[in-house]
Amino acid sequence: MNRRDFITSAGAMAIGMTMMQHNDTTIRFEQTPLPYRSDALVPFLSEKQVLTHYEKHHAAYFHTLQGLVTGKPEAAQPLEEIVIGSRTQGGPLFNNAAQLWNHNFFWRGLSPHDGIPRGELLAAIRNAFGSFEGFGKQFQEAALKQFGSGWGWLVKDASSGRLSIETTSNAENPLGTGKIPLLTVDVWEHSYYIDYLNRRADYLEAMLPKINWDFVAAQFS
Ligand code: MN
Repeated sequence: MNRRDFITSAGAMAIGMTMMQHNDTTIRFEQTPLPYRSDALVPFLSEKQVLTHYEKHHAAYFHTLQGLVTGKPEAAQPLEEIVIGSRTQGGPLFNNAAQLWNHNFFWRGLSPHDGIPRGELLAAIRNAFGSFEGFGKQFQEAALKQFGSGWGWLVKDASSGRLSIETTSNAENPLGTGKIPLLTVDVWEHSYYIDYLNRRADYLEAMLPKINWDFVAAQFS
């Protein structure tokens, strides 16, 4: 092969690859598997509560999103990009993509084992909330006050590195807003109603010891 042939075939290959990427509408997002057994969070959450939430609500967002993007360029995008790309227009694409992302993130932030933050993360928590207990109180209070359906978040400011607590309504989340999510709590009624009826405060109280601080630390760094 002479130099010219080589350049031509390399060019053709590049075009071929670009076309392949362009036409590849294989769905890349997933409903993240539960990182523990469905009964592992008892007594914080019963198996029935976890399974209903995971297999009905969470799965419904996943399946609806699959239907919405099938055959479209979004199918091949990472879930975060679909969320950020559809935020301004809102509607079913954003709602289902964001809810899928939020739930994937939510389950990973919980652990069957009691835990506490350590090291640099603990220092950042003390810096932002006075103490670890102060964080718990403020996180609970914010999530409790979120009116209607939504989410409570521990986030890290992308530029200052400072931690703060935020709440969002319905499917909204901090992706693409300059705040890095470290932890979330689902405060849609479907996430606690089987076990706690309307007692959101009790659900939040029982959640605090079950936070997966290794997961939070991984997001933090
Ligand atoms: Mn939920």
